[in-house]
Amino acid sequence: MAANYDGFLTTTFDNVVNWSRKFSLFQYPFVTACCGMEYMAAACSHYDISRFGAEIPRFSPRQSDVLWVVGTITHKMTPVLKTVYEQMAEPKWVIAFGACASSGGFYQNYSVLQGIDRLIPVDIYIAGCPPRPEAVLDGLMELQDRIQNDGPTVESKMINPQAIRHQEAKIENQANVSPNMGYDTPKGFQQKEALREE
Ligand code: SF4
Repeated sequence: MAANYDGFLTTTFDNVVNWSRKFSLFQYPFVTACCGMEYMAAACSHYDISRFGAEIPRFSPRQSDVLWVVGTITHKMTPVLKTVYEQMAEPKWVIAFGACASSGGFYQNYSVLQGIDRLIPVDIYIAGCPPRPEAVLDGLMELQDRIQNDGPTVESKMINPQAIRHQEAKIENQANVSPNMGYDTPKGFQQKEALREE
């Protein structure tokens, strides 16, 4: 990050901005199911998520920069989740917390969204049903690394990997999600192919 010359430190503006971002994450907890217990455990004194500068949950998307999707997401909830994501200001990150948020978990049925990445872009997936708090902290540290190393830069939002990932996921999602929110339809697959050919 920087070179140290006799008490002087040199760095770039982007490095400093991303360093401050990664240690001042404001979470939006979108908690719907049993994974919420582990989310709370990670925040309590034994694991103490505040050591990582991410202890303050905000319940307004406009004041948050990390969306934690914790638990099962049904198709009925998808408009709400999408609205919350869209109301968050850039730069923003998304964590899929646990098997249900990442892939639908063992709920392979008509009512459950089979992974939130069908709806919104995801930066970090945390495995487990539920994930242990250690895994939660591991996911958080991985996100911090990404923010530091390929977070948004001052010059351009679009040349950094994080912005490109979000852009690609947005195109995928336009094709993947039907007006019924979340169902893969034959029409959706045709739209996806058309977008790929463009
Ligand atoms: S992953 Fe397991 S613990 Fe978490 S919400 Fe789904 S069923 Fe519950």
